[in-house]
Amino acid sequence: MLEKTGIPTPEQLEAIKPSKERLAKGPVAIVECFQEIPCDPCYTACNRGGFLPFEDINDLPRTDEEKCNGCSICVGFCPGLAVFIVDETYSDDEALVTIPWEFTRLPAEGSQVWGLDREGNEAARVTVKKVRKSAKKNGAHVITLMVPKDKAYDIRSISHKE
Ligand code: SF4
Ligand code: SF4
Repeated sequence: MLEKTGIPTPEQLEAIKPSKERLAKGPVAIVECFQEIPCDPCYTACNRGGFLPFEDINDLPRTDEEKCNGCSICVGFCPGLAVFIVDETYSDDEALVTIPWEFTRLPAEGSQVWGLDREGNEAARVTVKKVRKSAKKNGAHVITLMVPKDKAYDIRSISHKE
């Protein structure tokens, strides 16, 4: 499925989901990187040990969920736009989801937009909480969204459509 559509399987996504205990503690990185390619900016961007050392440059990245504090620095460093941050502790009804954004048109903070799922379908109305430049020169912007909690693992992009 991944090779044909670019969309991970439910099993692949479940395998990288942080533990319930870790999610209850606050924001944490989720890395949807499933193809062995020579790439490691996620690992080198993190100075907290949030990624386990690579034995080989082609290794799939693995996180240390206890060392990751969800700072989101790695989000803007990943050329594959594969790193997201989920914070389930934001409120009773909403989670914060932080995504990479490589387009020049930026959403306005406070605006309501459509949150899109991995297939590009409109999944829920979401609010843009924060828009930040990447810590990496010319890296993707980093956008934090307030999303309905039950969509925290579905929404991976946004549309400007009203
Ligand atoms: S979110 Fe921050 S602490 Fe966590 S892996 Fe990324 S850079 Fe490291
Ligand atoms: S930087 Fe992104 S694409 Fe490269 S290994 Fe890390 S998660 Fe995968």
